[in-house]
Order: sequence, then structure tokens, then C-alpha cells
Amino acid sequence: MEKSIENIIRSLEPDRNDLLQKTPARVARSYAEIFSGYGEQVDEIASTFYDSPMDEAIILKNISFESTCEHHLLPMVGTVAVGYIPRGKIIGASKLAAIVDCFAHRLQLQERLTLEISGAVVDLLDPLGVAVYLCAEHFCISHRGVKKTGASFVTKHFCGEFKQNYNLRAEFLAEVK
Ligand SMILES: [Zn+2]
Repeated sequence: MEKSIENIIRSLEPDRNDLLQKTPARVARSYAEIFSGYGEQVDEIASTFYDSPMDEAIILKNISFESTCEHHLLPMVGTVAVGYIPRGKIIGASKLAAIVDCFAHRLQLQERLTLEISGAVVDLLDPLGVAVYLCAEHFCISHRGVKKTGASFVTKHFCGEFKQNYNLRAEFLAEVK
């Protein structure tokens, strides 16, 4: 990783040596943090479950996330809402946020991130339904190419009862949008 960063710096600033002293190691450390999701497993993050008779949607919304677009290696920054209808089993609310980070802290496409979050909740809880809503700004849209600042990219995924029941889906979207 450090060698690769060094090569990028050399290609941008062939005559600078001061930047090669500490920057490659510093960037490598920050990449380890930004891409910490590769070392994480969902079933290790969320391994404690609780019984619950709750039969309405449980929603954690406005979960901030930062990820990295795999096409341009540029940030995407936004919020996620995750909802599920339990089938007798729930997890701590913070675990939903940790699941988001586990997948966000990898090279990503927002579409895949949406499906991975949804799939993880299905695998962990076997709930009656799952709903996921993401809204993010992509730096590859705002800082290069078409350069449209403030454009929001929205992706959603519904399964189980959220897929079948339009009212449930509408209720979820009204809650999180
Ligand atoms: Zn991109």
C-alpha cells in the first residue's frame, strides 16, 4: 500500500521528496481505517439476539455513512435507514449501524451496499420483512465529470412484507425520507 501511494505522489510531483517521508505511511494508515470493513464479519458484529413480541417495523434512520466508490476511488457520503419487522427476534439498534459500516468501509457501489445491508439483516434475523433506504452524494458526480454538486443518489430495497404490502412500504418511506 505505501509503495503504491509513493508511486501516485511521484507521478504528481516528480521533484518532491519531502512528501515521500511520511505521507505514504500516513495514507496507508488512513486507508486501513477507511477500508476496515474487509476485516469484519456481520455475524461477529451482531452475535447477541433478544426475544421480542414486537410485530411492528423497527427502524433506525439517519445512519450516517461514508464509503468509497469502486469506479473512481472517491468518497460517497450519505445516510441510511434500515427497518425490519421481527419474527420474534431482535438485535441492538447500534448493531444495525455497525452492519452498515461493515459493508460501507469497503470499495463499493451504492446499489450493492443497499443489497448487502438488506441481505445481512435477512440472514441474521430471518425477519418478516426488511426495508433499506440510502441517499448519498458521490464525489465522482460532484467533484469530477458532470460536476453536479448536491445531486443525491437514492437506492432502496424491500423484501418480505415490505415488498408485498404497499402501505408498509409507504409508511417506511414517509418515516425515513
Ligand atoms: Zn464513482
